Amino acid sequence: MISPEKVSEEAKRLENENYRFSSFLKSHAEEEELDERFFRLHKELFSQYDCSKCRNCCKMYQGTLENQDLVIAAEKLGISILQMKDSFLSYNEYHNNYETKHKPCDFLMENGECKLGEVRPDNCKDYPYTNRPERLYSLYAVLDVITVCPVAFEIYERLKKEYGFRKKKRY
Ligand code: SF4
Ligand code: SF4
Repeated sequence: MISPEKVSEEAKRLENENYRFSSFLKSHAEEEELDERFFRLHKELFSQYDCSKCRNCCKMYQGTLENQDLVIAAEKLGISILQMKDSFLSYNEYHNNYETKHKPCDFLMENGECKLGEVRPDNCKDYPYTNRPERLYSLYAVLDVITVCPVAFEIYERLKKEYGFRKKKRY
């Protein structure tokens, strides 16, 4: 598995190849089979991976909280919603939700844990979304997450092998 420190650089190096593989899947992969392969690899690789040693997703994105997340998050932190907004959050008018003020996310602790624990937002729990169905119709979103997430990167590399994708030779 690639290290969290190297994934961005390596994904950049493979950018053209990964675009070609996405196009290859669009024209060759069968929808249900592709979902099954993504799901299987996601389950297998995440079961062996300790995300607390990585946290690229918390370092490279801001946390996003929907309005309905605020009460439970403030309760978890033991502060009022107003205090939480003042200390950690900015309102995003366009999306009508809240983002943490900083990147890395304000809720990321030094030990790699999230201050919100089990009440962290669903979009954090679900990241990198590689087990979502109908993947054939959102392959280009995968190209984003493989620049951040070592596990998603590895899933794409394994899929290349499983589908017999021929890489162009480098001269
Ligand atoms: S989900 Fe991916 S990017 Fe986030 S901590 Fe786990 S391996 Fe790292
Ligand atoms: S809210 Fe927690 S899980 Fe989500 S990005 Fe911030 S630190 Fe990571």
